[in-house]
Amino acid sequence: KPSDLSTLPPGVPEALEDEGVEELYPPQAEAVEAGVADGESVVASVPTASGKTLIAELAMLSAVQRGGKALYIVPLRALASEKKAEFERWEEFGVDVGVSTGNYESDGEWLASRDVIVATSEKVDSLVRNGAAWVDDLTCVVSDEVHLVDDSHRGPTLEVTLAKLRRVNPGLQVVALSATVGNADEVADWLDADLVQSDWRPIDLKTGVHYGNAVNFDDGSQREVPVGTGEKQTESLVADALDERIDGQGGSSLVFVNSRRNAEGAAKRMAEVTSRRLDAGEKNDLRELAAEIRDVSDADTSEDLARCVEKGAAFHHAGLASEHRSLVEDAFRDRLVKCICATPTLAAGVNTPARRVIVRDWKRYDGEFGGMKPLDTLEVHQMMGRAGRPGLDPYGEAILLAKDRDTMDELFERYLWAEPEAVRSKLAAEPALRTHVLATVASGFATSREGLLDFLDRTLYASQTDDDARLAEVTDRVLEYLEVNGFLDREGGSLTATGIGHTVSRLYLDPMSAAEIIDGLEAAEADAESLRQSPADRQSGGRDAEGVDAGVTAGETGFVTGNELAASSGADGGGDGRGGEDAGDGSGRAGGAGGTERTVTPLGLYHLVSRTPDMYQLYLKSGDRETYEEEFYEREGEFLGHAPSEFEDVAFEEWLSALKTARLLEDWASELDEDRIAERYGVGPGDIHGKVDTAEWLLGAAERLSAELDLDSTIAVREARKRVEYGVGEELLDLAGVRGLGRKRARRLHEAGIETRADLREADKPVVLGALRGRRRTAERVLENVGRKDPSMDGVRKDAGASAAAT
Ligand code: ADP
Repeated sequence: KPSDLSTLPPGVPEALEDEGVEELYPPQAEAVEAGVADGESVVASVPTASGKTLIAELAMLSAVQRGGKALYIVPLRALASEKKAEFERWEEFGVDVGVSTGNYESDGEWLASRDVIVATSEKVDSLVRNGAAWVDDLTCVVSDEVHLVDDSHRGPTLEVTLAKLRRVNPGLQVVALSATVGNADEVADWLDADLVQSDWRPIDLKTGVHYGNAVNFDDGSQREVPVGTGEKQTESLVADALDERIDGQGGSSLVFVNSRRNAEGAAKRMAEVTSRRLDAGEKNDLRELAAEIRDVSDADTSEDLARCVEKGAAFHHAGLASEHRSLVEDAFRDRLVKCICATPTLAAGVNTPARRVIVRDWKRYDGEFGGMKPLDTLEVHQMMGRAGRPGLDPYGEAILLAKDRDTMDELFERYLWAEPEAVRSKLAAEPALRTHVLATVASGFATSREGLLDFLDRTLYASQTDDDARLAEVTDRVLEYLEVNGFLDREGGSLTATGIGHTVSRLYLDPMSAAEIIDGLEAAEADAESLRQSPADRQSGGRDAEGVDAGVTAGETGFVTGNELAASSGADGGGDGRGGEDAGDGSGRAGGAGGTERTVTPLGLYHLVSRTPDMYQLYLKSGDRETYEEEFYEREGEFLGHAPSEFEDVAFEEWLSALKTARLLEDWASELDEDRIAERYGVGPGDIHGKVDTAEWLLGAAERLSAELDLDSTIAVREARKRVEYGVGEELLDLAGVRGLGRKRARRLHEAGIETRADLREADKPVVLGALRGRRRTAERVLENVGRKDPSMDGVRKDAGASAAAT
């Protein structure tokens, strides 16, 4: 019972009981026995929804009660605020909670005053790199979803971060929460923790495969679910769950599919099933919800989602705006939305149980694999674990779909009867080591090759491998790379980070991204330099001499490609001094550029950051290659650094993908509407914001590197960053920086003649109100934020705005 727990802050046990935690669940009781509330390290490997969060809370609250400080590491940013909100209910018992998101480069000093801190592993890693002093005060660390150390992108960061925290704080309590995995004992060994392992669930889970006209459950039972005419299996199963009324309530379903497009398509079809099963009150509520969804944005996704929601179904994927996501999740928990069709991101973390989970797709396209690949057992188990709402359903059902007997057998083997996979460290991959080796040296965790290898020896990787030689070998390659690029100095046996190496580590950049950015900016500088210093050389070369002097713009003669030169040389070859032979070597940047002094353009910078490994580039779809190849030649002079030739297949393709990404950013920074961008690039609003955020961060990093290397491009980089940050053209930069204004409103003010912050401080209120479409609260907030003394709009008429603007 909670009241038996004497180590918690006074009042907490009663509060838990008020919440309905009358008794600890068995895995929770086991964790307490292992000492989780007394500062002992524990790895809890238990199924989804069996109360892992409370295990963490018991550990953290007891730690705080003993005068310590706790850190809760989440795998996803979206979960950080959710967890913080959850833990804030302990504030009335004197436990201060803080969440650390946002800018990587800061030491989050204010967090020193918090008792419980929530952050992603990337954020924690960066806080350690930036030398946050409070890190030394931690007494308890929780790692949520620790099985993600297996993830090749994010796993190594979590792994190294835990190793560092334990190194700084030798007595640190580590509580690791994991889905059921094949080798939880290895994870516990690595963390020197007790293992709590259990299959217990608060609500029974029946798993089965639908084949023919029935679901065949793992316990041998069957449920007849014939597939109706014109229906598919999923439709029939969703309908069946809704028609099975328990306590007067039909059951909701969660359908997992393998792509965003499939989620949207499936939701449209499920909406036809759910709409026939709504009563008048529900239809009304759903109409209101649909209106809220449309209010979030005017993107096409908004409209598509609203249309499904009106009928009682929804889709859910990482491309959705976060407001949309939470509206859908809340409505599903309130049983208003009857069916969600989701990509697997929903299975990780977010608390949205359903009576029935349908795993429709168990294969997913995998680029590295080169085709459709079956999902991991672990992943499917996590999806299945979302079935069953304690207190609402008698049991949960998780169902896979088979079209033939063989597939049914395979699904039983692969998912229903199989153990989940073991988690394996991915640290030895080079990109991961590159980043972490530099950080480990820069933040002083290692000062020699031996020290470095000794530190790496505390990772899960080391505890899982028998092949020490391999780690040493990759480490040496990485050290070499870091030295060649000027991030590290090796002298004798000792390792030190260079000034720029420190900056790169603090900026949280992949060293390879930093190298790319530095090369690009330096190449631009070198080009500008050579143009400044040696116009005579080029004049004597006989090319475009007039062009240079007259400052002819790029569009006219400047950045012409070899191909165009070759094509045009016949017609106007003699006239402008470009001879036939010249055309041949006119390809490539330097030659083709020929004339005008190159300025660093926003597109050039967007392209530069888009081709770093820190940016997920947009894919080239069919037909894109031609489009962007054309753009590539049109704008060749804007790229920074050396472009690959079109014969270097892979490199050229990547260059074009980066160009597509850069063009998206350019459109965004030219105030193109979000839904137009979404349509043009075939992405969701969530993706646009993702790219914009990443670009803003990378350009911020580029700005720092440029300043530190004393390059001329610093100002151009800053401007490009701000334009991405606000999504506006150059002339709106000043206005758009006003908090609460936003780019569309800034544009309307500009059109009304209010062009700067200074203008806004002086402007006629009716004009402001008119430009802000009569929204008084917004207008007042904006005026307040711009520092106007009398922001009140009382008594101001907006219709006066039009005439005032006209005069
Ligand atoms: P997990 O993190 O393992 O997926 P959660 O911690 O989200 O699961 O718990 C699932 C639900 O169970 C939550 O709503 C939580 O409030 C509830 N819960 C946890 N422990 C208990 C308990 N001992 N008694 C009653 N409800 C509990």
